[in-house]
Amino acid sequence: MTALSDFNATPLAERACGTCTLCCRLPDIDALEKPANAWCRHCTGAGCRIYEDRPQLCRDFLCLWRTDEKLGEAWDPARSHMMIYRQGPQVTVLVDPDHPDAWKRAPYAAVLQGWAREGEGGQYVIVFVGDAVFKVD
Ligand code: SF4
Ligand code: SF4
Repeated sequence: MTALSDFNATPLAERACGTCTLCCRLPDIDALEKPANAWCRHCTGAGCRIYEDRPQLCRDFLCLWRTDEKLGEAWDPARSHMMIYRQGPQVTVLVDPDHPDAWKRAPYAAVLQGWAREGEGGQYVIVFVGDAVFKVD
């Protein structure tokens, strides 16, 4: 998770992470020497042990569900088992390996395909499931 600096959207007031900790598990985080799909050593499973002192990357990051009202409640990562963010033209979908087919199910598959086919601004959609990588088309 190294190129999030272009993702500075404002959080939607009515949405909160709650007990979701997908972004403390799914992405690789260089600053924490954390590989992908491994729990951050500071994660309690429901929160951050070093919340007040967490790295800037953790402070800045918001998944797309936190900032984009077009993603409805079905896209709450705690329900969808996916976290989604943008890196320039790339829409990155990290899927919880405990739910590897989540992205293939309704309503998600059709929406991901729609984003890929729209291709607005060269947009493309990449899905990561454990060590597997898929380009949505
Ligand atoms: S994936 Fe989204 S909702 Fe879940 S903890 Fe990260 S920013 Fe919050
Ligand atoms: S430092 Fe805290 S907020 Fe950052 S990944 Fe680890 S547990 Fe999550």
